[in-house]
Amino acid sequence: MTHPFDANSPDLMSWVESANAPDTPFPIQNLPYGRFRRDASEPWSIGVAIGDRVLDVYGAGLCDSPHMAQWLTLPRAQRQAQREAISLALRHGSGDRARVEPWLMPMNGVELGLPCETRNYSDFFIGIHHASNTGRLHRPDMPLLPNYRWVPIGYHGRASSIQVSGRDFARPKGQVKAPGAAAPALQPSEQLDFELEMGIVIGQGNAQGDAIPIDAAREHIAGLTLLNDWSARDLQRWEAQPLGPFLAKSFATTLSPWIVTLEALAPFRRPFVRPPEDPQPLPYLDGQADQVSGAIDVTLEVWLQTPQMRAQGLSGDCIVRTGLAQAAYWTVAQLVAHHTVNGCNLMPGDLLGTGTLSGAGPGQSACLLEITQGGRHPLCLSNGEERLFLHDDDTVTLRGHCERPGRRRIGFGDCTATVRRAKP
Ligand code: CA
Repeated sequence: MTHPFDANSPDLMSWVESANAPDTPFPIQNLPYGRFRRDASEPWSIGVAIGDRVLDVYGAGLCDSPHMAQWLTLPRAQRQAQREAISLALRHGSGDRARVEPWLMPMNGVELGLPCETRNYSDFFIGIHHASNTGRLHRPDMPLLPNYRWVPIGYHGRASSIQVSGRDFARPKGQVKAPGAAAPALQPSEQLDFELEMGIVIGQGNAQGDAIPIDAAREHIAGLTLLNDWSARDLQRWEAQPLGPFLAKSFATTLSPWIVTLEALAPFRRPFVRPPEDPQPLPYLDGQADQVSGAIDVTLEVWLQTPQMRAQGLSGDCIVRTGLAQAAYWTVAQLVAHHTVNGCNLMPGDLLGTGTLSGAGPGQSACLLEITQGGRHPLCLSNGEERLFLHDDDTVTLRGHCERPGRRRIGFGDCTATVRRAKP
């Protein structure tokens, strides 16, 4: 192609009619990648969401391999070129329609898997309001520790228990020490919580020993997902001193099925600015492109549906509404630069969680620990029920979208799961 082609142009329409609906999360300007199979006997294959359909991009000849791992290792320029080819094939009037249309499937007629194999999962703590609000519960005089504004705080999480949206899980058991009790007991968690986060999926990795400079970080990021870092607060309180989260977090992490690419997110970037009174980032965390456009505007919501609401035919309450840019103290590029500065090698499909993305205002606290101020003040729901923490058969759904005047709104797809009763 000799003329520039903008796959994010708001004027683009698709011959897939459902992709032109104003409220679809998956217009032709999005084209997120995931994995699907028609039945459980099939291997997972790479697919792209368009409207209410999934396009088998390998079958349609738009991708060289059915394996997501291969796509992730492509240089970013090749991933971009592939996205543009898919956009051209799906746009209104495309000559490829007859060839591509047989490879479209109804999204509700296939099984969606985790978007990729994840071997390593690290969880950060970049939500400064979350860090302050939870810190204040333990340290009213110093909610933020002195390192917070200098170093992106994180820990190594558990990759094996990451599961795709729609999979339920049993309430975890663990050691809980009640206040005043002489000894802990093994019991089902009574303080099960969600954490609204985003996941950063790594594309090309780096060799061990070679740091990824901040200006190159975007080359190594495939895209973003929604992530629920389920947390058992009573287990966490007892076990986390002094080394941090372990079994309170490792029983389940839920991920949305679609990787929304950095290319699709490009129209929703904005400058990343440190308040002048804060320490400026050390040079390895300070990049010019990151200053100009390191922040990404994503509106995020948490919906809670109790079993009683389900029985009453109610879809649930929106209990959190916040945003990535307003919550995050560090950018995704800073996280990649920091993670690798010591020579740690990231691998294709590795997952970085942002940490809980609470905003500063009312209704923006992104976990129940914050909403209920440590389990002291119940959250009142629209049908008269209350919650301090999650009950059995509660369903938590994370949703996210980007919108801006003059741009097509794009969405992430639901990240949902239901808490089941603890196993006997
Ligand atoms: Ca977390």
